[in-house]
Amino acid sequence: MRYISTRGQAPARDFSDVLLSGLAEDGGLFVPETWPHFTPADWRAMRSLPYHALAARVMQPFVGGSIPFHVLETICRDAYAGFGHPAIVPLVQLETHLFVQELFHGPTLAFKDMAMQVLGRLFDYVLTQRDQRVTIVGATSGDTGSAAIEACAGRERVDMMILHPHERTSLVQRRQMTTVLAPNIGNIAVEGTFDDCQDLVKAMFADSAFRNEVRLSAVNSINWARIAAQVPYYVAAALALGGPDREVAFSVPTGNFGNVLAAWVAGRMGLPITRLVIGSNRNDILTRFVQSNDMSVSAVEPSLSPSMDIQVSSNFERLLFELLGRDAEATRRTMVGFRETGRMAVPEPVWHRARSRLDAFRLDDPGIEAEIRRLRAACGYVADPHTAIGVAAARAHPAGPGVPMVAMATAHPAKFPDSMERATGHRPALPPRMADLFERPERFSVMPKDLGAIEAAVRALVGRNAPR
Ligand SMILES: *Cc1c(COP(=O)(O)O)cnc(C)c1O
Repeated sequence: MRYISTRGQAPARDFSDVLLSGLAEDGGLFVPETWPHFTPADWRAMRSLPYHALAARVMQPFVGGSIPFHVLETICRDAYAGFGHPAIVPLVQLETHLFVQELFHGPTLAFKDMAMQVLGRLFDYVLTQRDQRVTIVGATSGDTGSAAIEACAGRERVDMMILHPHERTSLVQRRQMTTVLAPNIGNIAVEGTFDDCQDLVKAMFADSAFRNEVRLSAVNSINWARIAAQVPYYVAAALALGGPDREVAFSVPTGNFGNVLAAWVAGRMGLPITRLVIGSNRNDILTRFVQSNDMSVSAVEPSLSPSMDIQVSSNFERLLFELLGRDAEATRRTMVGFRETGRMAVPEPVWHRARSRLDAFRLDDPGIEAEIRRLRAACGYVADPHTAIGVAAARAHPAGPGVPMVAMATAHPAKFPDSMERATGHRPALPPRMADLFERPERFSVMPKDLGAIEAAVRALVGRNAPR
């Protein structure tokens, strides 16, 4: 399998290259040169597989010749072995035709673990093959950092430094990062905001001497391998509900468009997925696009679902490329124009093509709290604020008579105890395997937003672990 850039000006690559490089040199995103396709008989044969084997089977065409199948299967088995539920991605029924799929049984209690746990192991395998090491740096406001740390802790070929804004993450989020004491992991609490952290990471990448010295890399949400690792749970849900012999629809609480893109890919691979519903909070750029072809950037505002507080959904470029009939030049022009003007010019027929598959729904903070309460009263289900948006979006856009709708549950309610208490009067307990989170020892440094000092800290981390 080869990968091309959505902007058409980078050479084609294989899966390992795409895994390690993230963004294409022309600023575009990598997509498969052709979409793999499974027949109805292929899908039916997957019904009997445990989740890790299903995941390997679905990812295999994307990985191509880069990794032998038995290695991929082992990677998937190990990636999901530490999950807190034997079904890995259990379906819970809320109404006759409404389900949630819980994607939060991984080590950090949010859906990012689904892909990150695979990604860390893929990195280790490919870097071992190439006899290389990399240093991953990242900025986080909470969820992504902890998922990346859990995925890379103890990996032999990777050092990782994560920057978070000092005293601006929740205590659960901070402790999920800072109590991981593996020697290849470092945490810096920057005296500043999340934007300051992001600027520091960008500055490290822009410092080419430093970038080459420590072999800088990233695991951000545009990495194709993350999308590929998110396709299998859509397959698992569809098969459990009667696919490929029955249609199914999905509702996805959305930020960077990575999760919902994986659902689109599952449909492209031959599953009968009729509709995709995008859920957003008050940061509703995608909802405005789907409802009125208005993709215009405004300021990011904090909400009860912080992992969706995003204005530019970077993975949307991949869908745009498809909607434009894989015209890379038109994609490049549209994206450059979007960056320059803050408004994406999408021709009417292209927008209609998007509308034929997508619905969208926006829920503000009072609406989120009301939906959490409603769900608890209606069927005793305790949904976190992100999941509540997905369920409300699903109810607002039912898929049609007899078609099951699955809303993605992206975080465990115990990650957001304050919001949950305000909505329901109860603080959800952490799962037993994490109950001692607040007693575990922490390790992190508090540092000013000083590029030189932070680069020195990264160098020290790398030097400590370099093979001698
Ligand atoms: C990251 C995240 C999302 C948004 O997912 P995207 O792939 O960025 O659309 C939703 N909910 C939770 C809990 C998340 O951590």
